[in-house]
Amino acid sequence: MALTRREFLKMFSGLTITAGFSQALIPEIYRVMVEASETKPAVLWLDGMNCTGCSISLLNSVHPSIKEVLLEIISMGFHPNIMAASGDLALSVYEDAIKNKKGQYYLIVEGAIPAASGKYCGIGERDGKGIPAGEWVTRLADSAKSIIAVGQCASYGGIPAAAGNYTGAAGVQDYLKKPVINIPGCPPHPDWIVGTIVHILLYGMPELDRYGRPKMFFGKCIHDNCERRKDFDEHKFAKHFSEEGCLYELGCKGPVTYGDCPQRRWNNHVNWCVQSGAGCRGCTEPGWPDNVSPLFERVPFNGR
Ligand code: SF4
Ligand code: SF4
Repeated sequence: MALTRREFLKMFSGLTITAGFSQALIPEIYRVMVEASETKPAVLWLDGMNCTGCSISLLNSVHPSIKEVLLEIISMGFHPNIMAASGDLALSVYEDAIKNKKGQYYLIVEGAIPAASGKYCGIGERDGKGIPAGEWVTRLADSAKSIIAVGQCASYGGIPAAAGNYTGAAGVQDYLKKPVINIPGCPPHPDWIVGTIVHILLYGMPELDRYGRPKMFFGKCIHDNCERRKDFDEHKFAKHFSEEGCLYELGCKGPVTYGDCPQRRWNNHVNWCVQSGAGCRGCTEPGWPDNVSPLFERVPFNGR
């Protein structure tokens, strides 16, 4: 393998990010990935309680394109939004993996898992009743090589677990009481999803922080790398969203949020939440959205 892990990680930090993961990937990482994936590791996707936004974000992956990821790097055995099969035929993929492919597939979960009873979030049917998502995730996780939670809801419960929820929704790690790689965000950046998969395939488990997030994407505080940080330090605060200046007084959660959004940026690396004037909403942190409510009031920070 030509590319060392150190070189790979360097591509995710500093100035290279501003050129985008896309340019960084071409051609070296892509070549190495395809070579390393001759056996095409099997990936099974499970949808819990979610809006499918994380899948849509993944489908926006530009380089490598989602077509390259699905056809040349991994073998996506089950994904409810892009697979052709449906009904019992589709679910037979889950059953086959559980029975015959122990330790041979990666399980990716999108969405929270309802723990309150078996009546929420059925996937398929047995004897005319929905099979609970919790039953599937428990059985699939038991035989999986690794478990990856994609998005805020799968990582920490997200909106389905917010105050007032009566489904007992929880993140996968809390539900299973097992180690899980968490890729939070509402939605997560496609680079975070693809980059984590690439790291696992090439180098094994990425280094995680105390919340189970890959440090290569979630190791930096938004506030420390924000282009409006100078305004914050000079107390130049915007009073309205259309104004220049730091958005802290308007409820920006950048000071208490970790992610590389200021460097990586979104939509093929053209913009991000603060640059667009909206402020950070803290979507990568455990406890979201309750921990950042009310959204448009300033978050306690440094005695403020
Ligand atoms: S806009 Fe938000 S992240 Fe940027 S400096 Fe102000 S408070 Fe920090
Ligand atoms: S800037 Fe904040 S709200 Fe926007 S995607 Fe990043 S962590 Fe989420």
